[in-house]
Amino acid sequence: MEARQAKVSMRGVRKSFLGNEVLHGVDFDVAAGQIHGLVGHNGAGKSTLMKVLAGLYPDYAGEVLLGGQPVQLTSPGEALQLGIAVIYQEFALIPHLDVAANLALGRETRRGQLWIANAKMRSDAKELLERLDFNIPLDVEVAKLSVAHQQLTEIAKALSRQASVLVMDEPTARLAPAERQALFAVARRLADQGTAVVYISHFLEEVLDICDVVTVMRDGEVVASRSAADFTLAELSQEIVGDKFAQIQDPQSVSLAEQVPEIDELATPALELAAFGAKGRPPSNLVLHPGEILGLAGLVGSGRTSLVEAICGARRSKGTLKLAGRQVNFRSAAAAVAAGLVLVPEDRKHRGLVLMRPVGENIALSALRQFSATGFLKAKNCNSAVAKAI
Ligand code: ADP
Ligand code: MG
Repeated sequence: MEARQAKVSMRGVRKSFLGNEVLHGVDFDVAAGQIHGLVGHNGAGKSTLMKVLAGLYPDYAGEVLLGGQPVQLTSPGEALQLGIAVIYQEFALIPHLDVAANLALGRETRRGQLWIANAKMRSDAKELLERLDFNIPLDVEVAKLSVAHQQLTEIAKALSRQASVLVMDEPTARLAPAERQALFAVARRLADQGTAVVYISHFLEEVLDICDVVTVMRDGEVVASRSAADFTLAELSQEIVGDKFAQIQDPQSVSLAEQVPEIDELATPALELAAFGAKGRPPSNLVLHPGEILGLAGLVGSGRTSLVEAICGARRSKGTLKLAGRQVNFRSAAAAVAAGLVLVPEDRKHRGLVLMRPVGENIALSALRQFSATGFLKAKNCNSAVAKAI
């Protein structure tokens, strides 16, 4: 990397939220023509660092150079102008516009003052998606797409800008293998054309596989940065966890295996599905015992989400569902919650949280009944339960 001038050079970057510093003087260089992996545990500061680069946090401290020139990143529009495109972990699509309109956003071809050239917008979108080898329906409202297709739309949108720096923040978490491969092929092609690509991911094997250089962040600092070829998978994991790894190795600390309870296969199952499923989807048979963790694997579109939504009363269902041996038929998510069945949804921003309300209210939301015997919320009980939960 020394041989080439870094396309992006972040020097001693600091960022605080309400006086709490989360980036402690980060140095980060990305060369043109490279895919640069950025890894670290949750909360290490990866997204915050990239949001500084995207112009979202004008109150950062430190220096950013682009192609050797110092720049001050004060707004997302400015970062875009400078050729920095970011695919965020959380989507930034307009839910009620269709895919083609989202792809054209901010750069619509107009006919006269008012009208958007719809046919041109559609043919541009079609061409872009074909070029990327992404299979997404053009005319469907984004809100109605699966999360994976929303992710691909987001990726296509970023790739459609003529970016010289492209940041992808955990873009593959929800993609099927074929879509991941298509994305990697695009990233490599862009890098070959001279784009500096930053790829954030928790899939370490994938990172070592497709990246040229890997940087590890831990607790707001860079702890390692070198060529991907110089990391083994074990070394990379070790850098990410740091001291915590030593703790787990310590025989004095509680072994995880010891904490796993015996599963009593003869006990009444906690949950039992007999030919049960979402309406219009194939039914499933499943048995889950108390103390058991059950993994549900499948490709995008295979029906994982619709099955768990049906179980949790958030979708119409058919077949038999038993909870602790008793047959149940939830007519709403609220009824399932009352019976002790909760769903942490995949799209937490839209389906899990009420974003404009405080953290405490969100925590209490699914248990309001406990705090409101008379129909009025007992704020004191509620607050202490929330504090305890946190
Ligand atoms: P990563 O992307 O590596 O998981 P983040 O950059 O999202 O990490 O978070 C780094 C730290 O900054 C975390 O402690 C997180 O809680 C905090 N943080 C991130 N965004 C905000 C915000 N908007 N307000 C307050 N704290 C934040
Ligand atoms: Mg992140």
